Amino acid sequence: MSELPARSCGASVRAGYAARVQVRPCLKDYSVEALRERLGSEGWRPYRAEQIAHWLYARGVESSDAMTDLSREDRERLDAEWELHALRIERVDRSRDGTIKAVLRGVDSARIESVLIPEDRRTTLCLSTQVGCGMACSFCATGAMGFTRNLGTAEIVDQFCRMRSLLSADRQITNVVFMGMGEPLLNRAAVEEAIRIFLHPKAFALAPRRVTVSTVGVVPQIAPLLENVPVNLAVSLHASSDAVRERLVPLNRSYPLDALLGSLRDCPRVTRRRPVFFEYTLIDGVNDGLEDARRLPGLLKGIPCKLNLIPMNPHPAVPYRPPPPARIERFLGELVAGGLTVTLRRSRGPDIAAACGQLALSAAGSKAP
Ligand code: SAH
Repeated sequence: MSELPARSCGASVRAGYAARVQVRPCLKDYSVEALRERLGSEGWRPYRAEQIAHWLYARGVESSDAMTDLSREDRERLDAEWELHALRIERVDRSRDGTIKAVLRGVDSARIESVLIPEDRRTTLCLSTQVGCGMACSFCATGAMGFTRNLGTAEIVDQFCRMRSLLSADRQITNVVFMGMGEPLLNRAAVEEAIRIFLHPKAFALAPRRVTVSTVGVVPQIAPLLENVPVNLAVSLHASSDAVRERLVPLNRSYPLDALLGSLRDCPRVTRRRPVFFEYTLIDGVNDGLEDARRLPGLLKGIPCKLNLIPMNPHPAVPYRPPPPARIERFLGELVAGGLTVTLRRSRGPDIAAACGQLALSAAGSKAP
């Protein structure tokens, strides 16, 4: 092909290597509405967009051969003009507890990780939104990698398709959390377009309450996200004072607690029916004191919310440890006494480094396939 498409698999593929790696646009970069428009403008019947989305996402087919309600000409044209996939699986690790972690590679060979967490009746997919992360949170292994690039919509959506193929036939993905590598709100356009595909009834048809976007606290992007897509919001809090939060989350210097919590208090999309899920990674001797637990209820006053405690998952790239269990219990008890709704997140997949904050890849020595 002589000409580069306006959008390509991994919409954020930069010009430098776009010419090398990308020749055709990828179907998974387009919401159903956007695909309908583009196909229509190229002389296709616009309803083909719904049909193709149904095959790719609801039925999970891997090639156009299976799209039996398209004519042979249309299938040939699809193959000639479009890319169907954006990622390939490089490596899969299965934990004793059922958690599955995969290393996936983009068309430019960039590596990301996704994690599947099967529980009783639900199966949660934890997605990445960037290659690495620029937020440099001091306790997070991904943070130690630094930032390489944003993922495109197709690369976010294809994580769902690829990871689904690793599940046994009796299981399906019921929940999606944007809690893998990267900061979703610094890649908001691609994240929102992917969410439109997750929610579309002809595509993955997930209910909005089954999709959660987690942010470190990029304040100006929070309200626009919630205006555009009706998902759950999780916010990485991790401290009860600016002094401690700055040590853990450098972005706190730009958006301190006052600004972050004030914006949530004022956000019309945060309601009792749609509370904020605050994540609080408990780190031994850093943010696990009783004074922290006592400050939090007042700090969060006026924000419909739940607090999710995550005992620090240790990683060679970072110096912190989880508190001993008795200290965690005490912290939790104090929060409950203060009137907060609190849950304690069990660590999943620690034997395959799949737990929160352990997604690191090359920074800590990438495992060869
Ligand atoms: N950048 C987004 C998405 C990452 S979500 C965010 O920060 O919210 C991953 C969650 O796991 C975040 O709350 C993050 O702070 C937390 N986390 C990171 N490293 C961790 C670790 N080593 N142990 C426990 N939780 C960790």
